[in-house]
Amino acid sequence: MDTSGWTEEETRLRKAICRVAALCYQRNLIVGADGNFSAMTSQGTILITPAGAMKGFLEPHHIAHIDRTGQTIDDGPRCSSEVGIHLVAYEERPDAKAMCHAHPPHAVALTIAGIDMQMPIIPEIIVTIGGIPTAPFGVPGTPDLPETIREIIRCSDTLIMQNHGSVTVGPNLMDAFKKLDMLEHTARILWMAHVARGGLEPLPQDAVAKLLATRTALGQKGLNTLENRCGM
Ligand SMILES: [Zn+2]
Repeated sequence: MDTSGWTEEETRLRKAICRVAALCYQRNLIVGADGNFSAMTSQGTILITPAGAMKGFLEPHHIAHIDRTGQTIDDGPRCSSEVGIHLVAYEERPDAKAMCHAHPPHAVALTIAGIDMQMPIIPEIIVTIGGIPTAPFGVPGTPDLPETIREIIRCSDTLIMQNHGSVTVGPNLMDAFKKLDMLEHTARILWMAHVARGGLEPLPQDAVAKLLATRTALGQKGLNTLENRCGM
């Protein structure tokens, strides 16, 4: 594909998508052709990983460029079949400029085991994103799936889709990746604790309240699902 028509911004975003997708593959957050990653340009168009490809091995010219309805706007590849969840996320969250959808194994396992990641246990998570809400099951590749996240994405940057995978949004790709990384790290701790202890116990309410009270001093201004009771 002729790359000479790309703006400096488009080139930068294409490279960032490839870098984050490779990082997710290396960190076992995706395998095979799993997952999809996108970023919005200042023109309001979307750069997104292509259909069917192994996302750990992409190069900038593999990235699809689409409009806000999912139609390809250049002569590049067609976009992922799971584009609908990206379109809904950008529709509901005008502040979001990037999104990661991955299949983090411990987080998905917790949804299958019926363990709610909203439970306040890990201080760092309580102070930053609160908890991680679960969206109801939707069949991948159908219009049902995007609708399952619509309500929760309005009040949370980070969510997990039942039996399937994660959705994280942010002002840029690194921020959306950071939330995905935190989500899976938390899920791994909860999983190990659940196995070792035979269940999980939330922190006492007064400890949770004290942690939430530190948010202002720490400059934490992002959405917090314990404060806005997202998905509860
Ligand atoms: Zn998926």
